[in-house]
Amino acid sequence: MDDTTKSRAAPPAARTPDTQTVTDVRHWSEWLMSFRCTRPASLRFRSGEFVMIGLPGDNGKPILRAYSIASPCWDEELEFYSIKVADGPLTSRLRHIRPGDPLILRPKPVGTLVLDALLPGRRLWLLATGTGFAPFASLLRDPETFERYEQVVMMHTCRTADELAYGRELVADLTRDPLLAEIFGEGIADRVLYYPTTTREQGPRMGRITDNLTSGKAFADMGLPPMDPAVDRAMVCGSLAFNLDVKAVLEGFGLTEGANSDPREFVIEKAFVGEGV
Ligand code: FAD
Ligand code: NAP
Repeated sequence: MDDTTKSRAAPPAARTPDTQTVTDVRHWSEWLMSFRCTRPASLRFRSGEFVMIGLPGDNGKPILRAYSIASPCWDEELEFYSIKVADGPLTSRLRHIRPGDPLILRPKPVGTLVLDALLPGRRLWLLATGTGFAPFASLLRDPETFERYEQVVMMHTCRTADELAYGRELVADLTRDPLLAEIFGEGIADRVLYYPTTTREQGPRMGRITDNLTSGKAFADMGLPPMDPAVDRAMVCGSLAFNLDVKAVLEGFGLTEGANSDPREFVIEKAFVGEGV
């Protein structure tokens, strides 16, 4: 093999109808990244739903995982917000993706974190830890969320402050979003209450979401009354343990869990399947 042959670029990977192209990649911390890709013209989804995405494995078999679509349903591209697990079969590869790379996407969106799975209400609570923020990144950028609710409260908790960066920037950008400003005027900023906290690093606001709700601190800090099933609705996305604990807290306020087929006052989805679960 001569030098010319060695330096020749590898042929582009074969593209199938399920293969999209990465258009943008951002690394937020050692553990977190977001990326955007082309969207198949035929893909319709409801903000908050998830799909299967992946990359080819060593044996050519795709490594596929569930991912919440972080972009809203009107966006012409798709965005995802991802953990980078050191030895994770998918994310140890995904962490190296660059614009122009292929991404496998199985376009069958599903999920319970959708507006239709809740009864009408006045205030929507979005409760997330870690990458559980992803489906809410979609819902926060969907005007329908603000058509249905007067107020949206985004509580996001991570171990450290750098893990809050993606959510913090997204919420700040909402107030500059031309589509939301055109529909709702400048007042949109007052309708989003953002409550980020850390648990393992000192910061301006600290503590678990469960503790801040049960102690009443979150309500006092935001000047809100305690949750009331007549007006408050909630969506929950985190680890299994987080989801179970928040469920108990919400039920303590009198809210009941719903589903697509049975809309009620709150809905839950796992942000990931933990080890041994
Ligand atoms: P895996 O073998 O899948 O996971 C290895 C271990 O890493 C797990 O046992 C768990 O302990 C931990 N882990 C996996 N995912 C996470 C995570 N997101 N946060 C913290 N710890 C984790 N992941 C995302 O990053 N973004 C999403 O939007 C997203 N949406 C999901 C939606 C659903 C409905 C489900 C069930 C999972 C979702 N996940 C999401 C998790 C995702 O499917 C993969 O588990 C993740 O990409 C890691 O894949 P992996 O092959 O590298 O490691
Ligand atoms: P996590 O362990 O679920 O923690 C995320 C946030 O949720 C933390 O602030 C945590 O508070 C809080 N929390 C956890 N359980 C809760 C509960 N039952 N009720 C209320 N709040 C709860 O998620 P993660 O940090 O994204 O890590 C998940 C997995 O990925 C772990 O197995 C971890 O080892 C691995 N991992 C972690 C990091 C990291 O440094 N964040 C990076 C890569 C991989 P507490 O701090 O009080 O627990």
